[in-house]
Amino acid sequence: LTEDAQAVVDEIEEKNVDFLRLQFTDILGTVKNVSVPAEQVEKAFSEGIYFDGSSIEGFVRIQESDMRLVPDPDTFAVLPWRNSEEHASARLICDVINTSTGEPFEGDPRRVLKNALERAEELGYTVNAAPEPEFFLFEEDEGGRATTKTSDAGGYFDVAPKDLASDVRRDIIYGLEDMGFEIEASHHEVAQGQHEINFEYDDALSTADNVATFRTVVRAIAAEHDLHATFMPKPIPRINGSGMHTHISLFEDGENAFHDEDDEFDLSEEAHQFIAGILEHAPALAAVTNPTVNSYKRLVPGYEAPVYVAWSDRNRSALIRKPAARIPAASRIEARFPDPSCNPYLAFAALIHAGLDGIERGLECPDPVRENIYEFDEEKREEYGIETLPENLGEAVDELEADETIYNALGEHVGPKFVEAKNQEHEDYLVDVSDWELDRYLEKF
Ligand code: GLN
Ligand code: MG
Ligand code: MG
Ligand code: MG
Repeated sequence: LTEDAQAVVDEIEEKNVDFLRLQFTDILGTVKNVSVPAEQVEKAFSEGIYFDGSSIEGFVRIQESDMRLVPDPDTFAVLPWRNSEEHASARLICDVINTSTGEPFEGDPRRVLKNALERAEELGYTVNAAPEPEFFLFEEDEGGRATTKTSDAGGYFDVAPKDLASDVRRDIIYGLEDMGFEIEASHHEVAQGQHEINFEYDDALSTADNVATFRTVVRAIAAEHDLHATFMPKPIPRINGSGMHTHISLFEDGENAFHDEDDEFDLSEEAHQFIAGILEHAPALAAVTNPTVNSYKRLVPGYEAPVYVAWSDRNRSALIRKPAARIPAASRIEARFPDPSCNPYLAFAALIHAGLDGIERGLECPDPVRENIYEFDEEKREEYGIETLPENLGEAVDELEADETIYNALGEHVGPKFVEAKNQEHEDYLVDVSDWELDRYLEKF
């Protein structure tokens, strides 16, 4: 065993861990896990644990279904909600290995991100990322099913639920800290029942792991309070939805490669090119960063979510913002379009490939737009050369298929599977009849 793996084995002993959850994600970003008795840990590290991949969304066909999970020792964490002195459970995030070739399985989203990071490394960069996931806390009904009733409906006459929400948020933060998160800030978001918790930036792979873990922890701890936490982008119409702003920076030889104090915006040439790459590929990226039918209900004017393809050093209606950085090392760009229903591994991989494409091709970055773009009419947008994000999932998937850079970013396995799954999702939506239609037409006609 490696030193890191041995350290995990020792910790398992010391903390009385009985069960290990070996985690990975499917193409849609859903966390999957196989639970094994802790005695299997050495075997897991040395040979991996076999599982049947054929039943995992978008993984493999039946005839080639043997996969192996090999845990990454850096990701060991005791689960705070299954933790007592004598009996604890822990999780390890795994890489998926194809048993017939012994190579990393290209359909593993974590692998797709590693490929993007390897491309960055070839160009001399490491990539840091930090997300700002937003979510709603909703009450459950008597049957324990999620409602869209907010738990802290300010304006309602009851005061107690208001306190409940901050208690829950505090417990969520304790749970995250127990799992090794460094929480930077948390606050109640604009909408009723909406919250945001920010955690410390890290290398992009660890951050993607963290997003997957974050969603699990938030949901588990909310459930302990009989609340349902949802990362659905737009659960309630006509108020703000939930985004997952994603901050990205490149480092080269330990220095922030996005910083240049001689530039008007304190951004290096690479940073400008990286922005230009994301802007150019934004319509295709949307399929990955905003991958649900519901994502496009959030990307409408008026709710602090971007609609128009532009960047800004000030205003928040743009797709990319340059946040003020107090120190050079903190220079970064903020992509404001991703939402928390995305698969973080695929979303980061696609964003990184888009930005690197901008650097490799030396793309010219347009001027920032400082006005509120929501207020522009079509003519003014045309004058500024501002494009619009896809209006729905179907359009976004078409853009993805037409954009080689982003489609290839997903790899040969994930690309076609992703497109197929998302086309199906959109078509299923198109043939459905919504409550809105019934409300509007049922009695009228
Ligand atoms: N909720 C907004 C969104 O959909 C963001 C609000 C904010 O963080 N300022 O992106
Ligand atoms: Mg924020
Ligand atoms: Mg926010
Ligand atoms: Mg933000």
